[in-house]
Amino acid sequence: MSTSWVSRFPPIDGSVSLEPEALENAARDFGKIRHRRPLAVVRPAHTEDVVTAVNFCRREGVPLVARGHAHSAGGQMMARGGLVLDMKSMRRVLHITDEFIEVEGGIAWSEVLLAALARGRTPPVVTDWLSVSVGGTISMGGFGFMSFHRGTQMDHLLELEVVTGDGRRQVCSPTVNRPLFDAVRGTHGQLGLITGARIPLEEAPDAVRMVQAAYGTVSDLLTDMKRLSEGVEVDLIHGFAVEKTAKGVMTRMNSMVPMNLSRHVVDHALQQVSGPWVYNLEMSDLVWSGRTRPQLDVRTLGHLPDLIDVWEMSWREFCFRLPPLILEEEHKGGAPHPELTVFTPLDEAGIALMQSEFDRLHPEEDIGLGPVLFFPLKPEVISAPLLRLPEAPLSFFLGLLRRAEPATPQRIRALLDDNEAIYRRVLDVGGVRYLPDTLPEDEAFWPAHFGPLWQQICTLKERTDPAGVLGSTFGRAAGASLTRE
Ligand SMILES: Cc1cc2nc3c(=O)[nH]c(=O)nc-3n(C[C@H](O)[C@H](O)[C@H](O)COP(=O)(O)OP(=O)(O)OC[C@H]3O[C@@H](n4cnc5c(N)ncnc54)[C@H](O)[C@@H]3O)c2cc1C
Repeated sequence: MSTSWVSRFPPIDGSVSLEPEALENAARDFGKIRHRRPLAVVRPAHTEDVVTAVNFCRREGVPLVARGHAHSAGGQMMARGGLVLDMKSMRRVLHITDEFIEVEGGIAWSEVLLAALARGRTPPVVTDWLSVSVGGTISMGGFGFMSFHRGTQMDHLLELEVVTGDGRRQVCSPTVNRPLFDAVRGTHGQLGLITGARIPLEEAPDAVRMVQAAYGTVSDLLTDMKRLSEGVEVDLIHGFAVEKTAKGVMTRMNSMVPMNLSRHVVDHALQQVSGPWVYNLEMSDLVWSGRTRPQLDVRTLGHLPDLIDVWEMSWREFCFRLPPLILEEEHKGGAPHPELTVFTPLDEAGIALMQSEFDRLHPEEDIGLGPVLFFPLKPEVISAPLLRLPEAPLSFFLGLLRRAEPATPQRIRALLDDNEAIYRRVLDVGGVRYLPDTLPEDEAFWPAHFGPLWQQICTLKERTDPAGVLGSTFGRAAGASLTRE
């Protein structure tokens, strides 16, 4: 593609970067597997700059992609030879009351939460890591450990400001311009860029009561997860498979803090576990002083004998914990992450599939000791119609966040191939891919993923982005034929 368009980019209040370092940074993401270098990085100062960039790219036939914190693992926020809009430059809190916070689309959830906590308030759903952007999670999912009963960050929005691929700034909400509101949630910025959001706030809990227990098989873990997510005793559920070591079960999840367990008891319990894995389950209650509710009876759990601990922490401490992927990178340094993330029905077939996968997989040889996460989800509580989820009444998230060591192309290829083989087996039991992972680059993936929704996606694409400017994931496959590359 010709580079001459770069010199024609019009003046904006934000900035345009052509420096090799900025372009190289925009060519990478958290997964460190895909590499697509743009020709320019634009840091918009406000929504008008986004409109200017979209209109310019439309006229010039240049692909444009929004980038948040680049925490996806498959190049979802990259534009080879195109223009990357670094949305992190739009990170202002525009207005806050006890009822809502109005922010620009590139702000990190950590900043949203801090502003809310200063008033004793919180957004209803938080992700396990807060250095991700509001626009990025609304475009992808925004799941938290409370999502099984509360839905996602996409389900708690009072209003969005969006710039569509035809260069129009539009406002939409559950009651105004609903088709656009539904189109942009969960669709990776391919049907519109999120420049602003009004997010409801609610009373922050006074504390979180934490319970963590260790299980000897993935079936036992998922069986308890299923029962707990059908009940009302716990607010947050989070599972984690680790290498079978004393440290693996003696450490509080998302931290390096030891649990209050005797080493002798742990060693004895682990001797009863066959295979190289052990599974931790975190079941937490939100506590508001003065409110009472049914409490989890820990005697009903099927964990390994005595491998359980209970403690309390503040909501702020809970939210700002470090997820295992971040802890891993801090301690071992960066490495490529060929990730697979899927939702699988939480039923007999889904549990049996996991049992056979974890009988086969080795934590070090196959996963590189990268994190393996689980949390439950009831698809009925999700309101974004274009986010594909299993049809089963209850499902669970599996994140195989592999670490490729050595980071050779052969090793990465082998891990990606195994991801696709697991994904095919997940499809066979009615599962669905969650899309921030290291997706296949094959365009045929998209119609297959969206299935009955694909035609609707193509129609929406034609309506909102007729020139095909927005094209990083399914954008091109959905009809972005005029984009030159
Ligand atoms: C450590 C870690 C923890 C994570 N935790 C969670 C979690 O708890 N829950 C969860 O659901 N996911 C989680 N993820 C997965 C995923 O990366 C996020 O869901 C989200 O996409 C990240 O936001 P981001 O700002 O990094 O977006 P990016 O990865 O930069 O972008 C994601 C997609 O959204 C598009 N996009 C970005 N900004 C905008 C915008 N303003 N308007 C329109 N489109 C836009 C991009 O083009 C891209 O297609 C996690 C990832 C990591 C690495």
